[in-house]
Amino acid sequence: MKKTFSLLFLLHLTLSCSSDGQLFTNAICIEDITTIDPENGIKEHQTVVIQEGKILKVDNTRNLKLSTKNQIINGSGKYLIPGLWDSHVHFAYIEELAPYMNDLFLAYGITSLRDTGGEIMFMRKWKELSEQNPATTPRLMIAGPLLDGMPNVYDGSSPDRPPLSHGLDTVDDVNDYIDYLDSLGVDFLKAYEMLTPDQFRAVLAKASEKGLKVTGHVPLSMDVISASNAGLNSMEHLRNVEMSMAGNATQLLTERQHMLTEGRALQGGDLRSNIHRAQRLPAVDNADTDNTANVLQTLAKNQTVQIPTLALGHVATFKEFTQAHWQESFEYLPDTIEQNWRSAMSRIESSAPNTERAKYSKWALQMTGKAHRAGVPMMAGTDTPIGFLTPGLSLHRELELFVEAGLTPLEALASATMEPARYFGMENKLGQIADGMIADLLILNANPLESISNTRTIDAVIKDGNLYDTEALKSLKAKMREW
Ligand SMILES: [Zn+2]
Repeated sequence: MKKTFSLLFLLHLTLSCSSDGQLFTNAICIEDITTIDPENGIKEHQTVVIQEGKILKVDNTRNLKLSTKNQIINGSGKYLIPGLWDSHVHFAYIEELAPYMNDLFLAYGITSLRDTGGEIMFMRKWKELSEQNPATTPRLMIAGPLLDGMPNVYDGSSPDRPPLSHGLDTVDDVNDYIDYLDSLGVDFLKAYEMLTPDQFRAVLAKASEKGLKVTGHVPLSMDVISASNAGLNSMEHLRNVEMSMAGNATQLLTERQHMLTEGRALQGGDLRSNIHRAQRLPAVDNADTDNTANVLQTLAKNQTVQIPTLALGHVATFKEFTQAHWQESFEYLPDTIEQNWRSAMSRIESSAPNTERAKYSKWALQMTGKAHRAGVPMMAGTDTPIGFLTPGLSLHRELELFVEAGLTPLEALASATMEPARYFGMENKLGQIADGMIADLLILNANPLESISNTRTIDAVIKDGNLYDTEALKSLKAKMREW
């Protein structure tokens, strides 16, 4: 028995290494490349064999002799990383841009997306497109609309407040609506700021019954510690965290609850702005060491994943959109959207710096570093296409800001590869360069561990085994310029 096994093993070894390449024909083979992923670190001189959408084999180049019946790519001097996730996008924020977003994401190496809020039938359309065309479309995980209380914030009352949310009046409404979203195949849920504590807990209970994760903005009616302890899986933009870190956190909560009761007749977005204006910066100024430590310890203990969306604050506030790579990216937008963005940007450019926004953006950068050092998990997301954040490009800026905040380049890569894969229970399929993984990969011309900005030096993108080489990426960009 033992002998048979060894013989079979030997036969297998001979076949996989043989120069006639019986095992590997019609495969894409990237030869002699340096692979980098958060689980296996950096490995030089690797050959990666890709077939039928999967990574069939990764081994040291000297162990694999490849038949010419394969498509062989010379990877020497280049770097292979897993395809990137943007974990905070909105297809529904500018509906006219949605049909162009997938190509933009792919051109910038974003192979998976987590959409954090949009009307459910609209989102299902993009989800279906992605599922039916996995080789040419980024993977898309959807939440459906923001689950908000009343008055809801994104109610469609202005272009800044498109109808991204569903306003829920009671706990029964919460339960019925989640049943409905679940029947339409959402991948997770997003809780929003106007929920009452009872409604928020109902969201978490119902989600757990359905096996869905819940991300959210901490409701204004609650503090961060209670929200995290109640079972919130992740939080966007570090939203309302500062209010629970202030020396007078308890007093601020009482004041917010009062404002929420008194302001029920206001538009939800106006009410929320009033509360943020009254509390955000005073809370930052009045940060308390013990309260800050308590919040961070709670988030770390519960592993409440943070998606700080730092680029969202930085690109507009510090006028980074004037830089050459942003200007180039705007040329890939459809004409009407490019014109809208350019006129809005020129208004910002000619106006005085917004010192309050600048202060908050700097606070968010520092808090991301502190939270990371405290052991709070991070995922990279941008909020594109809000705030002149070009789909795709903005994720690379987010990774740079993560490194500025104190993550190592490899940890920053994990936040856009392994962490989101784990979030969706896909860590055995995505996020590593290893045998059996889905072949979502980027070939880079420079080492991202030396400088995280090198994630922009994209030579080729592979989505579900489909190779966009330099030429294919060029024609994708040429197509985008024609819009
Ligand atoms: Zn968002």
